[in-house]
Amino acid sequence: MIYLDNNATTAVAPEILDTMLPFLRGEYYNPSSMYDAAKPAKQAVDLARQTLASHLGAAQASEVLFTSCATESINAAFFGAVRANPNRRHIITTAVEHPAVLEVCKELSRTGYDVSFLGVDRQGNLNLGEFVRALRSDTLLVAVMHANNETGVVFPIERLSRVVKETDPRILFLCDATQSMTKLPIRMDANFRNVDMLAFSGHKFHAPKGVGSLFLRRGTPCRTFLIGGHQEFGRRGGTENVAFIVGMARAVELAAVTHDDDLKRVLRLRDKLETGILARIPFVEINGSGAERMPNTLNVAVHYIEGEGILFQLSEAGICASSGSACTSGSLEPSHTLTAMGVPFTAMHGSVRFSLSRYTTEAEIDFIADELPKIVDRLRRLSPYWDYGAQRPR
Ligand code: PLP
Repeated sequence: MIYLDNNATTAVAPEILDTMLPFLRGEYYNPSSMYDAAKPAKQAVDLARQTLASHLGAAQASEVLFTSCATESINAAFFGAVRANPNRRHIITTAVEHPAVLEVCKELSRTGYDVSFLGVDRQGNLNLGEFVRALRSDTLLVAVMHANNETGVVFPIERLSRVVKETDPRILFLCDATQSMTKLPIRMDANFRNVDMLAFSGHKFHAPKGVGSLFLRRGTPCRTFLIGGHQEFGRRGGTENVAFIVGMARAVELAAVTHDDDLKRVLRLRDKLETGILARIPFVEINGSGAERMPNTLNVAVHYIEGEGILFQLSEAGICASSGSACTSGSLEPSHTLTAMGVPFTAMHGSVRFSLSRYTTEAEIDFIADELPKIVDRLRRLSPYWDYGAQRPR
């Protein structure tokens, strides 16, 4: 089986699992318990927090909060900020955010908040002028993702967050770094110094599913979202998921050690696949290719066929990838990201995302570059749409 769906989730690295296992076996104690046996669990959580804080360049370890996933971190940031700042009722985000942000924004707009959803151009880039013009005196929060999960397009967070703070330092900046964490440089004391809140989850970088984090800069007005015990400095109640927290910190450490080599190799393989596809398949384009992109993501728009058909046949060939469209209540909805980018109708349903990881091999990439043209050719021969469309200039 060839796994090229690493933007959905990643394999747990064996080294990371080894680091976690002691906390699922012998050291299962509650870190809040007073007796000596529980001390290793408490120390492990403290150390994991320090590890993350130091990798992120946080001023204090207490700025790093552990959650269950990026979705929780994002919800905590939004609803915590909303409750702490009742007088500001305008929010800015982009039309291409993950549903974890978009659906929260839609919910807030249903309850009286005014939300500006900024569009993107054909390459997936934001318009800086439009961004600046959207800022208002009642803007509470700006939420912009670092890298897009579908196309890999990277937004200029350093620039956007600086503009926000120069306009009004009281506007909060939330960055969803779920796809970029460990893949792109993120330093809360340097390029992300104007970002107040940063959300991500461990399963995108070889830690298990079920653990995430919210960086919450000291002094940021944000109320407790998950009300309960005193854990996470009273900001997020609930007994800590010790093993998974330890695993996520180990994953950040591992990525830092192997980062440059892994990413160079991944980028070379991604580009090899991209070149191979463009050379061998007519009427394809790469979504977001004109923008800065994450090194591991390749979103291919195949004109005149359905992405679901491609995925099905890729799966038959033992290849896991994903499509740009989601199956919603029985109807095939085109992806909101590709819709916002203005991807032509003929390719909207035929987009396939390949996302690589440090475990992707050259032989796998070669295999896909051989298989995909055959699959596309087979599907197009069955498609009346292809006979019609390919004869005409687009
Ligand atoms: N944000 C982005 C950009 C994502 O890609 C994802 C998951 O794919 C999420 C948020 C939500 O992450 P989780 O499912 O870990 O909550």
